[in-house]
Amino acid sequence: MSNQCPPASHSGEDEMPPNYNPNNTIAVIGAGPAGMSAAIYAKRSAVDVLLFERVMAGGQIMTTQWIENYLGFPAGTTPSELVAKFQEHIASLGIDVTSENIKRVIPGDLQTVETESGKKYKCKAVVVATGARPRFLGVPGEWQLHGKGVTTCAVCDGNFFRNQTVAVVGGGTTAVEDVIYLSKIVKKIYHIHRRDQLRLAGETSDELAKLKNVERVFNHTVEEILGEKEVTGIRVKNREDGSVRDIELSGVFVAVGIAPNSDFVKDLLETDEGGFIVTKKDMSTSVEGVFAAGDVRVTDLRQVCTAVADGALAGLGATKRITGIDLA
Ligand code: NAP
Repeated sequence: MSNQCPPASHSGEDEMPPNYNPNNTIAVIGAGPAGMSAAIYAKRSAVDVLLFERVMAGGQIMTTQWIENYLGFPAGTTPSELVAKFQEHIASLGIDVTSENIKRVIPGDLQTVETESGKKYKCKAVVVATGARPRFLGVPGEWQLHGKGVTTCAVCDGNFFRNQTVAVVGGGTTAVEDVIYLSKIVKKIYHIHRRDQLRLAGETSDELAKLKNVERVFNHTVEEILGEKEVTGIRVKNREDGSVRDIELSGVFVAVGIAPNSDFVKDLLETDEGGFIVTKKDMSTSVEGVFAAGDVRVTDLRQVCTAVADGALAGLGATKRITGIDLA
């Protein structure tokens, strides 16, 4: 039997085919590491899985350059290699990815998952594993020049700035990775950070310190991104003495953290002030039958390994709604 369950009709009347049992189905929203892991754990417990993805399987890690510290890959690996293995794994269990953007989840004894295209899928439990997206600075010039020199993806856009001068803004892991990656492509990088210390999750910044074409502009905030049709510079302010200066450059890589993709459930589920979904230790949320996993939830660490672990717990939690068996 295929695990691809047809939707309920647009009229709201359920038109379930004989082999579709919503009482034995969970919906997983998001096919990143958390969502794929949830799907695997549910499917192996003989539960049917609907796995939705709006863009492409893999999630945020597809915008990173290199995966380190993932168990079993001592030399690291590329995101595409890891995601290909994840996809192979779900395919081996007969789990397909359905391309749909989910608009909302309507809770009930049977949950309804409604898509942007107007389809309604019924299922017993839902796992929200929609990840997070890059945040922006909110300074003048940023939106106007987005795509015209302002970007959030070094791996995607670095090559456009070959042998040019750019800035990387931010002091977290993403910013440090971006600086290291871009240092091999561009002529010079101004690494701008609002504090004098980096925010790193266990990694070291040894490699960063060795780079010859990187100038630290720490303890500075970005006041404006300059340019008419494309980026020509950046205005920064020294937090110690208040002095302002303009730096001439052609690209600005913004790496100031992430915002959760939780808008579609923000009125349904309890979130923190940043919109990250609050979960209990079994990944259940404030609404019965709805679980959350990975970067979209409130957590201390956002890595592939933690997303996979979250997904396993959420998949089993969702499965318990159907089987009644506590497997965790
Ligand atoms: P992050 O760790 O939250 O760091 C965000 C950085 O941006 C911080 O330095 C922060 O400054 C700065 N910032 C935030 N808002 C700002 C603003 N308005 N103006 C100027 N600076 C601002 O974000 P991230 O680097 O994207 O990482 C997110 C999570 O993903 C982390 O848990 C990280 O470990 C993980 N990650 C993992 C990998 C990997 O495994 N390969 C790669 C990338 C990220 P302050 O320090 O002053 O707050």
